[in-house]
Parts: sequence; structure tokens; C-alpha cells
Amino acid sequence: KSSRSKPKEVGSKQLPIYQHKTKLTQAVKDSTFLVVTGETGSGKTTQLPQYLYEAGFCKDGRIGITQPRRVAAITVAQRVAQEMQCTVGREVGYQVRFDDCTSEDTVVKYMTDGCLLREILADPGLSQYSVVILDEVHERSLNTDILLGLLKKIFSDPAKASKRRHFPVKVVVMSATLETDKLSAFLDNCPVFAIPGRTFPVTCTFGTAVGPKDLESTGYVREVVKVALDIHTSERAGDILVFLTGQSEIERACDLLYEKAETIDYQYDVQDQTVDGILILPLYGSMPTDQQRQIFQPPPPGIRKCVVATNIAATSLTINGIKYIVDSGFVKQLNHNSRVGMDVLEVVPISKSEAQQRAGRAGRTSAGKCFRIYTKEFWEKCMPEYTIPEIQRTSLTAVVLTLKCLGVHDVIRFPYLDCPEERFILEALKQLYQFDAIDRSGKVTQLGELMVEFPLHPGLTRALLKAASLGCQDLLLPVAAMLSVENIFIRPGHPEKQKEADKKHKALAAKTGSMNDFATLLSVFQLCKSSDRPSAWCKDNWIHWRALKSAFSVENQLQEILLRLQQKKDFPVETFSGNKSELFRQCLCTGYFTNVARRSVGKVFCTMDGHGSMVHIHPSSSLFDQETELNWVIFHDVLVTSRVYIRTVCPIRYEWVKDLLPKLHEVDVYELSSVARE
Ligand code: ADP
Ligand code: MG
Repeated sequence: KSSRSKPKEVGSKQLPIYQHKTKLTQAVKDSTFLVVTGETGSGKTTQLPQYLYEAGFCKDGRIGITQPRRVAAITVAQRVAQEMQCTVGREVGYQVRFDDCTSEDTVVKYMTDGCLLREILADPGLSQYSVVILDEVHERSLNTDILLGLLKKIFSDPAKASKRRHFPVKVVVMSATLETDKLSAFLDNCPVFAIPGRTFPVTCTFGTAVGPKDLESTGYVREVVKVALDIHTSERAGDILVFLTGQSEIERACDLLYEKAETIDYQYDVQDQTVDGILILPLYGSMPTDQQRQIFQPPPPGIRKCVVATNIAATSLTINGIKYIVDSGFVKQLNHNSRVGMDVLEVVPISKSEAQQRAGRAGRTSAGKCFRIYTKEFWEKCMPEYTIPEIQRTSLTAVVLTLKCLGVHDVIRFPYLDCPEERFILEALKQLYQFDAIDRSGKVTQLGELMVEFPLHPGLTRALLKAASLGCQDLLLPVAAMLSVENIFIRPGHPEKQKEADKKHKALAAKTGSMNDFATLLSVFQLCKSSDRPSAWCKDNWIHWRALKSAFSVENQLQEILLRLQQKKDFPVETFSGNKSELFRQCLCTGYFTNVARRSVGKVFCTMDGHGSMVHIHPSSSLFDQETELNWVIFHDVLVTSRVYIRTVCPIRYEWVKDLLPKLHEVDVYELSSVARE
């Protein structure tokens, strides 16, 4: 790593950060902790690691930069590799869950915050890093918040830190928006380096389409398309950035845009400037990376670019040339839903600060305009001032297990930048106890030590480990993999095509001989894997080939983790005494007994976790419309729209969960945290 000659001067000289290169590098040298802020697009993410590389920070170790979003980690690494004229995976690489693109040569490593958290588990001193940069801290993702507390704990005391490392570490925390005083105070009053940046005024207008009564409507997609086309046909040259909430919505908006844009007559000029066409580009998390690259390229002369994106374009990725914003006012967020008692992906109004951030994307290089499709009243009544940090609104089960495995027993008094509510911590402890990951005194069990190794939901891991102990991991590994990638079933949206797709999917489910969505996942995995022409097979069956390919790779990686753990002598081994054909479903029950529902009347089910929520089987399930034949079921997740739906469902027998269900109520949660409270 250290044998490389001094690198050539790197990076883009036009960016605001460039003028501060020397001072910034010096500031990193001068203290253990440093907070860096600057407008989005000023060059923090792509340039600072290069400056530090150039200044010799990679002599002893790597520079690691975390991102809350996997697309950002990948895209930025590709960009920086290009600027440093190397191949991704060599000097510059990235690592995201289930995709490691680094090598021995990698000195600048972009990764998700979740990956760095796992690295701390294996190496608490992070001894391979000379610099650790937490980026996008203002996003307040759960893992980044936990990392902040951990890095503070590990590196605050140089004497303690030096026991774990041969050379000192530098920790840089980067944030686009203010909160810098709070961050600096949290990190032992460390210095703050603010990159002065220039922004131009953005005129914002409110619309009429979405008011306080439209919280659950999705009619905003049409409105967003209409506004974008209005801009296209009446505003001066300049690119458009549209904010929506997720893949299917974005694809629908792009289809509508294509359709309508075809009918535009370009015989006139737009305010004396010629615009001859529009280039419509989607941007969302699970998009193929070669398509993502196109987003950053300037459009051909006379063509207006229109990017339809998720919130990722708000701060993580900066697209040059944007002059117009269309803001839907909504975002997809993982929230703990107290009505259902679990984490649920929901479409919710953005916060006012988020709306300002979105608008700001139009004023990076000249004055811009932001068109909000919602009313002023919606802004005042429905949008909170700030976004609540993820740590205060989602399940902490996986994170608490990680902390416990790192020896942080007092998870209540851990240094949190913003404390989660105590009941969320207690809920996490309770779940871990139910999964046998911790014992009654709150100590991590042998099983818990194994569970933490898997980057999966603890329940799924529990089921997988059960199967492994019975020697039937081949049944669960593919299922775990399939549930870890994006949805594999294509939903074309178009009514005729949808019918065709539904028919194929039903046939696949029927092949398993048992109406059970988990079994269908397993069967699709196996059928495709054994097919001679897997991509053709997928096309024929309306299955996403790309998603399935990822599932194959994920399955391999999970298998590797499992094989490594099975070599330990204390890996549990059990024998199965029941009916062989029920083995699969019984394994699932070990991890999903927290998600049990029993049919109450008609097609309505009632959850058994103490919340007693009324739920329906989602239409995408093979058990949809078979409800009256069912009694007990387990399910993978919950979708809340106008109804509460359970998805990926499997019928079970009461006997299989009979002994497990009392666990949901037996334990006094305060007892679990008693260790922490002493
Ligand atoms: P910050 O982290 O301060 O928000 P970045 O380092 O992400 O800023 O971006 C700096 C500049 O680099 C922006 O002008 C952005 O458009 C450009 N940039 C970033 N990624 C790419 C890419 N993949 N292709 C082209 N330009 C890019
Ligand atoms: Mg950035």
C-alpha cells in the first residue's frame, strides 16, 4: 500500500472546496476530531479524500468514507476513481452490503455506514484506517448516529485508543447543514471547518394539487408530470429535477412524461431560447449503475434534461445544471408504526427543512425556481420543521445487538447525539431476548454472537440458524437471499401486461404444491438456478433477472458466513423429530413467531404480538383470496396504505408456535435492562 509514488494533483479545481485545500488538510492533521460543513455540491465527498490521499494520509492506512445510501457509495467511488484515473476496486473502491469492490490496493474506500459498523465488530480499533470520514451526517441515519457515538467512545481518550492501534486516527464528520455546534460539542468541542459557498436565490411557488386532506393520495404523480411539462414548454433553458418517493412511482412518472412529451410541437422557441427536446432520466436506489452514470452527463445541445429522483438527489448526489425543481412534498421513510407495532415503510410529508434543501438544488450555479405542488396550507399544517432522526423512529434490534457484541452493555446510557426513546431500546432488548440472542440479564448468548455476523433482520437470521442447526440450510439460505434483494416479481403496471404477469406468478406459486410465499421464493430461486438459460427463463416468467442474479450472489455470501461459523466447535446441532415436509415451515416459525396472525372473521386476520392489529393479506401473495381456508399464518413484513397489509405469507399450525408465543409476553422488559441501569 505504501509503495506508491507521490500521486499527481487531483480533483476539480472549480469547486468551492479547492481554495481551502491546504487549510483543510492542515485542520485534519491538527486534531483527532474535525467537523466539516459546506453547501451540498461544494466538493466535500469527492474532493476531501483525494486531498488527504495527496497529503500522504494513506502511508499507514486507508481513508474510509461512509455514506448512508448504497447508491451514493457506489456512484461517488466511480466518480473519484475516474478523477484519480484508476479502475474502481483498485486505489479507489467501495463496499456496500453484499457487494465488496475493494482490493489490497484500495486506499480510498467508500462504504455504507452499515459496513463500517460491521468492520468495528471485527476490529474495534479500526486499525487499517488512518482517516475515518463520516459523511452526510445531517441525514441522521441510524447507523451513522451509532458510529458517531462509537467513534467518540473509542477515540476520545488517546491513551485508550493507542492500545488498539499503532498510529493515531483522524475522524472527520461532514454535514451539509448547520447543527455544527451540536456536532462539535458532542465530539469534545472539536474545531469546525466551514467551506464558504455561494448559492443563488431560488424562487419557490406553492401549488394547488396537494392539500392537508391528500395525505394518503398518490394522485401527485400526475400533477408532478404536468408541472414538469409546463416548465419544459414555458421556461428558459435549464434542467429539471423532480422529487418523488420510490422506484415504481418514478417509473410511472417517466412513462407518463415520455408519452406526453411525444406530443409536444417544437416549432416555437421557449422565451427566445431553443429547446428541441427532453431527456427523461430516472434515479433511484436499486438502479443499474451504468444507467446512473448518464444522470451526470450534460444533455446534448438544445435538449433539456429532466431527472426524476428519490430523495437521494437532495444531498447525497449533486447533478450539475439543474435550474428547476418540482417537489412532490413526499418521501418514503421507515418508521416504527405504533398501530401495528413494527417498522413500516411509509410515504410521508417531508419536513420544511427538507423542502428547503430540495429547493436549494436549483440555485447552485445561477438563480433557479422551485415548484411545490402542495399548498401553503399543506406546508403549514402537515410538514414538520425538521426530519426526526432515524434512531428515534425505527427498530433498534439489530443495532442494540451490535452494541452488545461490542461490549457496550449499557445501551441506555450510550453516548447518543439524540437519545432514542427508552421504550424503543427496551423493545429492542425484548426482541433480542425472544430470539435467544441475549439472556435475562441482558448478556449476549452464544446464539447472539452468531446472529450478529449476518447482515439480515434478526428474525430471519434466527430462522436461518435454526435450519443450519438441523442441517437444512439449503432451504433457508435462498429465502434469506431473496428477501434481501429488491422485489423479484415484475409488476408491469399496464393492466393487460399485469394480468399476464399475475398468471405466470400464480403458476410459479402453484408449482410448489403448497400455497406458501416463502416456498415460492425458494422455488423461483431453484428453478432459475437450474435453468440452462436463466435470463430467458426470468423474462418468460416476469421475474427481474438482475434482482435474481443479486440473490444468487447474496446466497453465496450468506453461505460463506455460515460455513465460517459452522467451523467453530460450539455451533449448535439439533435433530428434527417432526414430519419432514413441515421442516421448512417450522424453521421459519423460529424466526417469525413475532409475526404471527390468526384469522378472526372473513378475510381479516389479527396479529398475535399483543398489538392485536387487524391485517389483510396483500394481493401480491399467493394466499390472497384463499383467506377463508386459512387459520394461522406468519408473514415477513407489513405495508400500510389505507389498510394494513401483510406480505410474504405462510400458513402454519398453531402447535409450531404454541411454545414460542408466550415468550412475547412473559418477559418484563425492565428486567432485561437491569444490567444497564445499575
Ligand atoms: P458535496 O459532497 O460537498 O455535496 P460532491 O463532492 O458530492 O459535493 O460533488 C462535487 C461536484 O462533483 C458536484 O459538482 C457534482 O456534480 C460533481 N460530481 C459528483 N459525482 C459526479 C459524477 N458521478 N459525475 C459527474 N460529476 C459528479
Ligand atoms: Mg456529499
